Amino acid sequence: MRVHHLSCGSFCPPLVGDMVCHVLLCESDDGLVLIDTGLGLADYADPRGRMGPTRHLLNLASTPADTAVLQLQARGFDAADVSHIVLTHLDFDHIGGLSDFAHATVHTTADEHAAAVTSPDMLDRKRYRPAQWAHGPAWQIHAGRGDQWRDGLTGHEVLPGITLVPMPGHSRGHAAVAVDAGERGLVVHAGDAVFDASSYADATPSGQRLDRVRALRAFEQVVGRDRAAIARNHVTLRRLNDSEGVTVVPAHDKRVFDDVVGLGVSTG
Ligand SMILES: [Zn+2]
Repeated sequence: MRVHHLSCGSFCPPLVGDMVCHVLLCESDDGLVLIDTGLGLADYADPRGRMGPTRHLLNLASTPADTAVLQLQARGFDAADVSHIVLTHLDFDHIGGLSDFAHATVHTTADEHAAAVTSPDMLDRKRYRPAQWAHGPAWQIHAGRGDQWRDGLTGHEVLPGITLVPMPGHSRGHAAVAVDAGERGLVVHAGDAVFDASSYADATPSGQRLDRVRALRAFEQVVGRDRAAIARNHVTLRRLNDSEGVTVVPAHDKRVFDDVVGLGVSTG
């Protein structure tokens, strides 16, 4: 299916530098599908209530024009055509746009839904922002690890060609989302399972000073739930990315985003 790469939000934390919110817009046979949403219109209208104190740490650098809903409209799509949203996890920088597509079915893992919505522990209560799902999304919750997928991994095929691949570590129920982009291969949205491409690819951290990469990796450790699982996920993503026809895209790596757009993987 045709896949567009959008950045729906950006941050510029001190020491770390530019971060994007990488969102995939997929033209599926079941309508438009978003993989993550980035920030939404309501986040800009009520930054304190919707994003909490973390927004100060991250140093928000984007505007409402960067929201998925306005970028979709600018490309000639109708927000009402977004029928499904598949989430890597429920951190505020990934789900703020849910309320801009309130009619869409929202897919997540049972573990992530429990962590954020139904049974958060003390850490999770600080982490997630219930205002972002107060409109009552139509959740579709995927329990367990799913079926055999590829490379020893399991997943839930939520729609033809779109697979939710449980990859906990950053959060309790984090997942990657794999999208079959036809002749352009398989795009694996890694969410926050990895923050920087140099953690899973032989790419040198070009364009970024090494101290910034170190700061980003330290940040990744601080905000993650399970450091051992995060390390294992990096190995898994390296194996996937090394496979023929597979492109791994982290949510926040601006260099990867610029590369995929510049290479023409984006259609718009
Ligand atoms: Zn994130």
